[in-house]
Amino acid sequence: MEATILNDTTVDYPKDKPLFELFNESAQAYPDKVAIRFYDRTLTYAETEASANRIAQFLVQKGIKRGDIIGMALDRSAEMIITLLAIMKSGAAYVPLDPEYPKDRIEFMLEDSGAKILITSTKYAGHYAANTTEILIEDALAESASLPPTQPDAGVRGTDLIYILYTSGSTGKPKGVQIVHHAFVNFLLSCQKQPGITSADKTLAVATISFDIAGLDIYLPLSVGAELVVADSLVAKDGRAVLDIVRTQGITILQATPYTWRMMLEVGWEEKLPMKVFTGGEALAKDLAAKLIDRCNEVWNLYGPTETTVYSVIKHVTDAEDVTVGWPVDNTQIYIVDEAMNNLTNGEIGEILIGGVGVSLGYLNRPELNAEKFIDNPFDNKSPKIYRTGDLGQLRPDGEVICLGRIDHQVKVRGYRIELGEIEYQLGQQPDIKDVVVIAREDTPGYPRLVAYLTLRNGQTGHPDAEQQNAWQNALLAELPEYMVPDDFVLLDTIPSTPNGKIDRKALPKPDYGHIVRSDAYIAPRTANERLVSEIWQEMMGLEKISMDDNFFQLGGRSLVAVKIMAKIEEKTGLRLPLATLFEHSTVEKLAIRLDSNSDVISWDSLVPIKPKGSKMPLYIVHGAGLNVLLFNALAMNMDDEQPVYGLQARGINGVDEPLDVMEEIAANYVEEIVNHDPVGPYAVAGYSLGGMIAYEMAKQMLAMGKDVKMLAMFDTYADQTKIHTPPVIRFVKDVWHLIKQIAYTPVLFVQDPKRTVEYKSREIGRRIQKVYKKMFPHKVKKKEGFAAYTNEIHEKSEAAQRNYMLVPVDIKIELFRAKKKTFYMNDFKNLGWTPFALKGVRVHDIPGEHNTIFAPPNDKQFAEVLQKCLDEAVKQ
Ligand code: AMP
Repeated sequence: MEATILNDTTVDYPKDKPLFELFNESAQAYPDKVAIRFYDRTLTYAETEASANRIAQFLVQKGIKRGDIIGMALDRSAEMIITLLAIMKSGAAYVPLDPEYPKDRIEFMLEDSGAKILITSTKYAGHYAANTTEILIEDALAESASLPPTQPDAGVRGTDLIYILYTSGSTGKPKGVQIVHHAFVNFLLSCQKQPGITSADKTLAVATISFDIAGLDIYLPLSVGAELVVADSLVAKDGRAVLDIVRTQGITILQATPYTWRMMLEVGWEEKLPMKVFTGGEALAKDLAAKLIDRCNEVWNLYGPTETTVYSVIKHVTDAEDVTVGWPVDNTQIYIVDEAMNNLTNGEIGEILIGGVGVSLGYLNRPELNAEKFIDNPFDNKSPKIYRTGDLGQLRPDGEVICLGRIDHQVKVRGYRIELGEIEYQLGQQPDIKDVVVIAREDTPGYPRLVAYLTLRNGQTGHPDAEQQNAWQNALLAELPEYMVPDDFVLLDTIPSTPNGKIDRKALPKPDYGHIVRSDAYIAPRTANERLVSEIWQEMMGLEKISMDDNFFQLGGRSLVAVKIMAKIEEKTGLRLPLATLFEHSTVEKLAIRLDSNSDVISWDSLVPIKPKGSKMPLYIVHGAGLNVLLFNALAMNMDDEQPVYGLQARGINGVDEPLDVMEEIAANYVEEIVNHDPVGPYAVAGYSLGGMIAYEMAKQMLAMGKDVKMLAMFDTYADQTKIHTPPVIRFVKDVWHLIKQIAYTPVLFVQDPKRTVEYKSREIGRRIQKVYKKMFPHKVKKKEGFAAYTNEIHEKSEAAQRNYMLVPVDIKIELFRAKKKTFYMNDFKNLGWTPFALKGVRVHDIPGEHNTIFAPPNDKQFAEVLQKCLDEAVKQ
C-alpha cells in the first residue's frame, strides 16, 4: 500500500471560519434548544450566545485585541464554557488552567504564555501571583449585563490561535502547544461525519479543561446543536457519578479515557446503554474493548497527540480482537518512519509522524524543541510541517494504523500525559536525593502506578520511612499535579544500567506493595504531625488508641470536640484551621498532611462543601447559634447520594474577619457566596435555629434579585415577633406576660422529660445570672481567649442582629422542620410564629428529638429522609 493512498484525505473545509462561528450557526438554527446543562441549570443556545457575546464585548472594553492571550482558571460550570466562547469571540486565545493544578504551575503557564488577563472567580481571587490582570467572572457577568448581546467585530481569522495548551515537559517545565482555528474547525467537521453526531444527541463532558480532548467534549456538541451536559470535577473523577448521569440523563455520546471507562465498569455497569463511546487519550486494551462493545451502540477508538489538534486517527471498533487506531481524519496524513526517515509503507514498525492541517504552530517560545519535533515534510506537499509523535506504529496492508506504545519516556497514567523526565527533574531538586528514575509500572494490568527509584546521599536503601516519603510527595505536590506524584518510592544503592551505560529500566525491581499498609488494621503514627494529631484526638475524644485512617465522624466526632481539637492544634502549632477542614481531612493521616502543607491556602469562606457531590439541586444550610456547620454532617451523609449539601459558617470564626451584627448584612454576605458558587440556581436554603432567621432574610434578598428560590426551610427556628417597634411599656407588659406563660408551662415540660427540663432551666438561669453579673461587674469578668473569645464575640453580634431584625411578610412558603420534643414555652407551638411572614404558607414536618438533638443519631436518619423528600418535591415546582 502506498502512503499516498493512505493519506488521501483531502476535503474542502472553511479555512477562514473561526471555531465560534460553528457555534453561532447552531445558535441561529436552534435558539431555544438547550445548549448547556450543569446540574439543574440549563442554558439555551440563544442564552449562551448572548452571554458569550456580552462577555466578549466586556473583554474588548477591557482592551483585549485580536491575538492577545487570556488565562482561564474557572471551576467546571456553564460559565466556564461561556467564557471560552467569549474569549475566542473577543479575538483572544485562551490558556486553559485547571484550578486544581498547583499554584506554581499555573503561575508558570500565565507567565510563559504572556497572558494579558486571567479570568478566574472570587473563589480564587488574588490567589495567583503573576503579571496578569485578574478579572473575576462574577464581575464580568454583572458588568456585561448591560452590554449589547452582539458579537464584537474582532476580525478573527482561521489562522489565529484558539488556545495554548500546556503539556508535561521532559526537561522539567510544561510546554505550550499552539492550536489555530482552522485546524480545530477541520477536526470538528471531520468528527461530525465520523464518528458522527447530530442535534438530537446529548453529550457529557468529563475531561479536564487542561487536556485537549476537552475541546471535543465542548465544541463538538455545540457545533451541531446538541445538548452538552457538563460534569463538575468531582463527578468527572467518580466512575459511579459519571455512570449515574449517563443512565439518568440519557447521554448518547460520551468521550472518556480507558481509565474512566474502567472506573465505570468497576462500579457495576453491566447493562447495554444506547450510547456511542469515544475512547481516546491512551491505548484501548482488548478486554476493555470487548466490554464496551457489549454494552454500547458504537465504540470508537481515537488517537492523536495535543500537537496535531486533539485526534488524528480514528477507528470504529467492532471486534475486540482487532483494535487499531484506524484511518486519519480529514486533511491529515500519517507516515511511519525508521530512524533514517524512510517511509515504511510495508508494515514495518517505526515512529508515527503526523502531517496535515491539524499540525500545531509548535510549542510557544521553544525553537529548539520545535526544530526537533516539528520537521519539514520530506514526503509530499500536503503540509509544510509534520510532527514526530514519539509513538511506535505500524501500517496494516489495508491502511489501518496500529499504535504500539512509546519510544521515549512519556507515559499515560489515568489518561494523563506525563513526561517522566519532569517528575525526575523535580525529585532531583530534593537535597537528600542523589539519582532518580521514575517509571510507570503496570503490575496490575490496566492500572499503571508511578514508581520512583532513588539513590540517597546517605546511602539508605529499602523502604523510605513515611516522613521521608511525605516530604518528597509534598515537595512534588507544590510543583506538579497530583496525578504526577509517584505512589511508591524504592531506595536502591545504585540505579541499574545496561552494558552501554544507559539506565536499564527493565531491571528496576517490582516494589514490595505489601509494605504499604492499606487495611482495617491499626496504623500507628508515622510522622510528627500524625503523632501530634492523634494525641490531640485521643485526649479530646477520650479514646485510647486511634488508627491513622480512623475517621473523625465515624469515631463520633461532633462540633464541640472539633472546636477543642482545632483550638489545641492552634495552641501547639500556631496554625488556625477552620472546623470545616475536618470534612475533607477527616482522618488523622489527612489532617496531619494538611498541617504539613503550606498554611497560606487555608480557606475561611463561609461556604463550606459538606457533601458537594451529586446532580440534585444543592441545599445550603446556615449555621445555628453554634456558628459552625459540622453539626450538619450526619444529616448530609444520610441524604441521597446525589444530594449536594453545603454549609454556611459564621464570618469571623477565624478570629480575623470582623463579625457582622446586622441581619441584612449577614444574609447578604452568605447570598454573595452562594451566588458566586452558583450564579443561576435554582436554590434551596435552610437554616438551623438562629440560622433559620438568616435563611429567611437570604431568601428575601434572593427573591428581590430575581433568583429562583425553590425551597426555604427552617430547622426548628422560632420567629420571635420583633419587639423593636413596640413602645417600651407595651413591650414590658408583653415580656412579663410571656414570662408568666413560660413559668406556667414548665410543669408540662417537666412531666414530659424531667431530667432534660431541669438541665435546660438551670442552664438558662445560670446564663441569665451571668449576664447580669457581667453587666454589674465588667472588670471582674475574666476575658476569654483564642477561639472561645472570637466565637463569643460572633455569638453576641448574631444575637444583637436577631434582636434588631424586623421580620416582614415575604411571598414564600416555609418548610418548617419542628422538633417533636419541646424545650421551652412558645407563643405559637404550631407554626413557631411564622404564619404572618410566609405569605404562601407554612408546612410543618415533625422530626424526632428536641432542638439540640435533631441532627444526632438516630434522629438524623429520619430527618434526612423527610428533608430529602421535601427537596425532591420542591425541585418539581
Ligand atoms: P495527548 O497529547 O495527551 O492527547 O497524548 C497523546 C499521546 O497519547 C499519543 O502520542 C499516544 O501516545 C497516546 N494516545 C492517545 N490516544 C491513543 C489511543 N487511542 N491509542 C493509543 N495511544 C493513544
